[in-house]
Amino acid sequence: MRTVTMKFGGTSVGSPEAIGNLVGIVGDAVRSGDRVIVVVSAMSGVTDQLINSVRAAAEGRRWDYLHTSQKLRDRHDEALNMLTQPGSDRENTRAEIAAMLDQHVELCSAVTILGEATPRITDAVVSFGERMSSRIVAAALNRQKIKARAFDAGEFIITDDRFGSASPIWEETHQRIRARLLPLLEQGIVPVITGFIGATCKGQPTTLGRGGSDYSGAIFAAATDSDELIIWTDVDGVMTTDPRIDRRARVLPTVSYQEVGELAFYGAKVLHPKTVQPILNKGIPMRVRNTFNPSHPGTLITAASHPSATIIKAVTSVNNVSLLTVSGKGMIGVPGIAGRTFLAAARAGANILMISQASSEQNFCFVVLNNNADDAKRAIESELAAEIARDDVDTVDVMDGVSIVTVVGSGMRGTPGVAGRVFTVMGDNRINVIAIAQGASECSISFVVESAKLQRAVIALHDLALEAVAV
Ligand code: ASP
Ligand code: MG
Repeated sequence: MRTVTMKFGGTSVGSPEAIGNLVGIVGDAVRSGDRVIVVVSAMSGVTDQLINSVRAAAEGRRWDYLHTSQKLRDRHDEALNMLTQPGSDRENTRAEIAAMLDQHVELCSAVTILGEATPRITDAVVSFGERMSSRIVAAALNRQKIKARAFDAGEFIITDDRFGSASPIWEETHQRIRARLLPLLEQGIVPVITGFIGATCKGQPTTLGRGGSDYSGAIFAAATDSDELIIWTDVDGVMTTDPRIDRRARVLPTVSYQEVGELAFYGAKVLHPKTVQPILNKGIPMRVRNTFNPSHPGTLITAASHPSATIIKAVTSVNNVSLLTVSGKGMIGVPGIAGRTFLAAARAGANILMISQASSEQNFCFVVLNNNADDAKRAIESELAAEIARDDVDTVDVMDGVSIVTVVGSGMRGTPGVAGRVFTVMGDNRINVIAIAQGASECSISFVVESAKLQRAVIALHDLALEAVAV
């Protein structure tokens, strides 16, 4: 008997029709004899609305959060009415959701009184999104005679207390999932579990970071030794590039864990970057599939890599980044400047997306998100103040209006000439490459171009990836 963990994203639970598809998909799996674990996101847009409501509360805009709470009540009520029959199951679910939204208003009032939203209160508020959607999905399944029960993941996923992007404590989490979920699966019950959220060992709700339901899905798949993890979303699979940049984008039939990791990291929004981590060692295959086109097989993601004929499988990009350069004649042979720079950037809350240093050691550069650039610059300049005063290091240079382009394909490892091809294509298209980086995994090459040239760069490189899909 197979165990399958299915994670449904925000759009896949975003309307009564979508939840209807979900019920069909889960029902088919159950009837075919699979044990199914369902992990759900909040209905699409709800997490953003909840976050905004906490902000409104902190700024004393009472009417705004009350209005949001009412809108959420209407939307969830409507879904519930369309997916269930009059009766006690419907009324109990409605009451549960109403109680959560009452709490939502109470927490927001508390935030207004304090005049400040702490990460801890924000997580408590945000958790209502998944808690409400899971109740509706369980009720909809039960209505179709599929035995289901909703759970808050805080019962299972125990995390540290980094509210907003908490990390699971594995042993405790695995043990709880196995002890409580395996017996339910034995009884033929489908657990419907909130994605995205966990709890500290004291029971305070935490969240795993935006888009974290994928990660939750992988945690449940790993702990239950699932035979497969299926990420149900609103696209047919992992694509060769972003279809909004190039309409010729195609679905990749297979990619490796490593390739999808690079893709997720560099802007392809299909999967949360941490998703493969829990299932990697267990080798659990993962599939990305479309709730709105369930006959499409999607993209299979496994440990094995199937190098494509042209080596390059996919092209992704990150827009709105800034390139910071630290340079100075006095840096040569002085250890520790790079280390101190990156620590200072981290303290300023800037996540570093890419790093490059030339062997002359007279400068190195790195890329951060646009909105972190000024804070990072200030933090680094104060860290290196003594070196700057001695003229060993110049002030930090910030270049805005740039983007990262990444080509991904595990076949690059040990294949000479791929970088040559990539940069020849850039040259042929008169696109200036500002900085280059290749990780030692040799699974991707990233480089920085002017944002104005981004689309042209992606399309030209995507030609190479498409040649391979066509054969
Ligand atoms: N609802 C959460 C978010 O929007 C988590 C998720 O959908 O994966 O970030
Ligand atoms: Mg999502």
